[in-house]
Amino acid sequence: MSYHPRITCPICGRDTALHPTAGQFRPHGSVANRCPGSRRTPEEAGRYCISDITTEQWEVMRDCYRRGDVRPVELMFGITYDQPTHFVCDGTPEDELAAMVGLARQWINKLALVAQQRNRVL
Ligand SMILES: [Zn+2]
Repeated sequence: MSYHPRITCPICGRDTALHPTAGQFRPHGSVANRCPGSRRTPEEAGRYCISDITTEQWEVMRDCYRRGDVRPVELMFGITYDQPTHFVCDGTPEDELAAMVGLARQWINKLALVAQQRNRVL
């Protein structure tokens, strides 16, 4: 049996196995709603623990949510959007665009929830 070190994920607080060579958290959380710490090193995951968001930052996040645009949020917090690894869409290009916007919104929403939870805890 191989040994997989477990470390507390700074985002969800779950004890999570690290990939033995890559040093990244194994995917965790439900399949439909992975923890943003999945496939990130503990250091990278730490950057997702955003808190003390200013009014201006919330406004940027709200605007990005409306437009389904993750880039300003990535730049603002020094983090990267989790590109879906298996993105399949059988519909029209409009359906595909709607699905991509939906995923971007889901990601921004996840970040907002992390920030709200941390503000409650801190
Ligand atoms: Zn986690």
